[in-house]
Amino acid sequence: MSSYDLAIIGSGPGGYVTAIRAAQWGLKTVVIEKDGFLGCTCLHVGCIPTKVLLHHAEIYDHFKNAKEFGIEVKDFKLDWPAVLARKDKIIKKHAKGIEFLFRKNKVDTLQGWGRYAGPGQVTVEKDGKTSEVQAKHILLATGSEARALPGIEFDAKTLVSNKEILRLPEIPKSLIVVGAGAVGVEFASIYNSFGTEVTLLEMLPRIVPLEDEEISPELDKAFRKKGIKIFTEAKVESVKKDAKGATVAFKDKAGKSQSLSAEKVLIAVGRKPNTENIGLEKSKAKLERGFVHVGPYMETAEPKLYAIGDIVAGFPQLAHAASMEGIIAVGKMAGKDVPALDRSRIPNATYCEPQIGSVGMTEKQARDAGRKVKTGKFPFAANSKASILGQHEGFIKVVADEQYGEVLGVHIIGPLATEIIAEAVTALQLEATLDDMLFTVHAHPTVWEALGDAFAAVRGLAINA
Ligand SMILES: Cc1cc2nc3c(=O)[nH]c(=O)nc-3n(C[C@H](O)[C@H](O)[C@H](O)COP(=O)(O)OP(=O)(O)OC[C@H]3O[C@@H](n4cnc5c(N)ncnc54)[C@H](O)[C@@H]3O)c2cc1C
Repeated sequence: MSSYDLAIIGSGPGGYVTAIRAAQWGLKTVVIEKDGFLGCTCLHVGCIPTKVLLHHAEIYDHFKNAKEFGIEVKDFKLDWPAVLARKDKIIKKHAKGIEFLFRKNKVDTLQGWGRYAGPGQVTVEKDGKTSEVQAKHILLATGSEARALPGIEFDAKTLVSNKEILRLPEIPKSLIVVGAGAVGVEFASIYNSFGTEVTLLEMLPRIVPLEDEEISPELDKAFRKKGIKIFTEAKVESVKKDAKGATVAFKDKAGKSQSLSAEKVLIAVGRKPNTENIGLEKSKAKLERGFVHVGPYMETAEPKLYAIGDIVAGFPQLAHAASMEGIIAVGKMAGKDVPALDRSRIPNATYCEPQIGSVGMTEKQARDAGRKVKTGKFPFAANSKASILGQHEGFIKVVADEQYGEVLGVHIIGPLATEIIAEAVTALQLEATLDDMLFTVHAHPTVWEALGDAFAAVRGLAINA
């Protein structure tokens, strides 16, 4: 029987990053993965393929708007199979990259279904055969799967999840997206750019409901301008397939029954944790609606059993959250001095057009938490680099503590939002105040310098607006 310091079940951004850091810190590590490739949701059907398609959509939009930049483009058309082929090539390259990093860091891999089998023991099942692994520490990073709606099943052709929508044989003429969280709005944005007639149905009163209250209406406005139809407070009642695609019946905001038809329906209503059949019943780990409860270092209630990533209760289902949770857990196992992960310092990045980047508390969250806050807002319409890019939509909103000026949250919608949020993340991590940020020098001309104006705006000192 093989014996390790650490056995990790799952090779997504939680599992693979943790394995490499564990090896760097001297732990003999094995990763157990059920699929025949490494990287899972993030690399194969999540972060990376969606961002490839979003980048292609952006290039396509540039061609459509070429005239604005003084370029006459007579004939251009989308070669969809070539787009899909480039996406697959990038995925393959990076999956090979993880294999290389595992070899470089001497991380072992075992293919098969991993299961916690009691203290220090994991079983691995493949093709009807079961092997055993012994490990001092066990870390679960089994990820999540797309949730369907009650009574509505994915059929992989017409009613699709994030997996099938990434490999449609053709661009659909029409698409209904149920759910306007990050996944829903990204696909709405992609297919709208490629010419699909897109309708978004969201059950809550606003799209991207987890973002600051002022971000949602801005995205709503930008999406409607592009021709995306949006229904909020829409309660989907049924989805029925027919010869042309499917018909979605829903109750609208006013309580009126409506129905819409489309060639494809994407269900993007959240993700359920993969915590069934992984042996948790043999442990003391506490679960809530399938999510695992953990302590500050991602430890479960079972000694030496840890959980990270999409299966953890109370943390966002994001790749970079999964990775940092793993690094902190492994730091604890290796006896390093690591800080506990502060949820409020995990950034959100939504790559639709316009992009959204945010970190920390929304204005409402800060006020609900009893904080006295002051906010500042700076529009990209007043930023010279945004003008050069031809991307004027959006703004940056800073939420700060009124008395001491502590930066509590930053919310960006507009060009390069997912990149420039980096400064705000560092500001929160280092507990920066407005005074620190007001005297931070921002290079010119950049989209990033709009952050300098946004921090200054809290004190009524923005220069450019
Ligand atoms: C369409 C889409 C776009 C996204 N875009 C972004 C983005 O831009 N940025 C971002 O931060 N996040 C994004 N996410 C979320 C991100 O993909 C997840 O948060 C992240 O993949 C979670 O990592 P994980 O390691 O917890 O799980 P996963 O990536 O799901 O990996 C889990 C792994 O465990 C394996 N596994 C499961 N059970 C077993 C078992 N019993 N035995 C062996 N192996 C097992 C699976 O095969 C898989 O390889 C996106 C998600 C989707 C669906």
